Amino acid sequence: MDQSAIDTLRAQEITPRGHFINGAFHAGETGAQHQVLSPIDGQPLALIAEGSPVDVNAAVQAARVAFEDGRWSRMAPARRKKVLLKLADLIEARALEIAVLGVRDNGTEINMAYKAEALSAAATFRYYAEAIDKIYGQVAPTGHDVLGLVHHAPVGVVGAIVPWNFPLMIGSWKIAPALAAGNSVVLKPAESASLSLLKIAELAAEAGVPDGVLNVVTGRGSVVGEALALSMDVDIMVFTGSGATGRQLLEYSARSNLKRCYLELGGKSANIVFNDAPDLAEAAKVSAAGIFRNSGQVCVAGSRLLVQEDIYEDFVAEVSRHAEAFRVGDPLDLNSQIGAVHSLTELEANLDFVSKAEAEGAERRTGGDRILTETGGYYMAPTVMADVKETDNLFQNEVFGPVLAVTPFKNEGEAIRLANATVYGLAGGVWTSNLSRAHRMVAGIKTGVVHVNTYGGADLTVPLGGVGQSGNGHDKSLHALEKYFDLKTAWIKL
Ligand code: NAD
Repeated sequence: MDQSAIDTLRAQEITPRGHFINGAFHAGETGAQHQVLSPIDGQPLALIAEGSPVDVNAAVQAARVAFEDGRWSRMAPARRKKVLLKLADLIEARALEIAVLGVRDNGTEINMAYKAEALSAAATFRYYAEAIDKIYGQVAPTGHDVLGLVHHAPVGVVGAIVPWNFPLMIGSWKIAPALAAGNSVVLKPAESASLSLLKIAELAAEAGVPDGVLNVVTGRGSVVGEALALSMDVDIMVFTGSGATGRQLLEYSARSNLKRCYLELGGKSANIVFNDAPDLAEAAKVSAAGIFRNSGQVCVAGSRLLVQEDIYEDFVAEVSRHAEAFRVGDPLDLNSQIGAVHSLTELEANLDFVSKAEAEGAERRTGGDRILTETGGYYMAPTVMADVKETDNLFQNEVFGPVLAVTPFKNEGEAIRLANATVYGLAGGVWTSNLSRAHRMVAGIKTGVVHVNTYGGADLTVPLGGVGQSGNGHDKSLHALEKYFDLKTAWIKL
């Protein structure tokens, strides 16, 4: 990547053209817009269309018509594959432009956004495109006088709602398998991070995704998201975001057509360091990255660090040293390692967590303040809070910011108990040289993902999903395709 190319792209004016419905941009029923501020400098960035229930209905009806007439749903999988591979190529060809666009409204630093947003979106479309003509139905082992067939039928109209962190990566985790399986999609991005997903809709049309098959309606969760989730014509909802919104989606489902809701929610993941970790220096470095990259705005962030008591003081000091060494700054500067907090609201909520933790007796070892205030942007110093107790707010609740809660433990049993002492169950980590202990910990920690002697790594080949109040269902891997199909039995008397 080249800084001058990034600087040229950042100077471009952004003129979004509204919702993407039935293959074209529309200003929407009311023509209303809301101003999006850039987290880089707090300045106005773009006017985004403020959708209404009428706009949602138009998108859902376009998706329904497209689904029922079979323009995509009955297209041979090999042909859908070709279109989605072309979309992947288009995204890859414009990866830097798309990444910069996304950074300007969500604040992720560009090195990460380029790989984890733009290139990862291309890879996701490619992965599901390549998978879709290799999935077979089944012939049931029935008696000789009947034939039992199990088909994979696309579910119909998929409503997708995604958050502001990694909107393109997470959006692609939903759109790519949904489209590959033959469904139509209506997507609602976060109100403050819509730009890159609007671009994907445009590129999808260019790649040959037929009109009405992929629609994007922008605007507020309480208006656009609610109307989508209450629609009687949406067959399933796929969602990533907070637990509070996840709960609301279940209510909307109950009040409408009992649509299935797949929820990928928040976490408070425990990263557990035993005194027999193979390399404590490496463990400290990776643990710091595992919470502070993207300003802690990562669902699987290792936001609780549990450290065995005899190495506690040295380890906390080492993690704090790494925290202080991160270069926080302009996310479009290639030298920055950590970019901006997404919004002023998020930044203020992060600072509030720190002051509450201090009031509860935790000790601030580093960070805890807003920094680079002169830029007008929303930056926060990586923060380490030590001696956090199990009952503390900071131990129990997700910050979704660069704030690490550290707690000592005595032995394996206590480590497992503490790891499982929240309502969440998204991810976790274990550092130990003891193979048997590693396996016991993987079995004992109640989460969807456990890292061993590393933290935060994964790729498309493995599922991501939570248990407990971190959600249900999975994104990524071939398992993600399952939710976009209904199993349909044909029972044929011979
Ligand atoms: P959020 O729940 O506030 O918003 C997510 C989306 O829901 C947005 O598009 C928003 O507009 C929409 N929404 C809000 N209210 C709604 C309503 N009443 N009806 C329908 N839609 C509504 O979450 P956020 O702050 O954007 O995202 C951060 C959260 O997402 C964190 O909790 C984080 O852990 C979680 N997350 C989870 C994963 C995962 O894979 N489990 C990944 C990324 C983020």
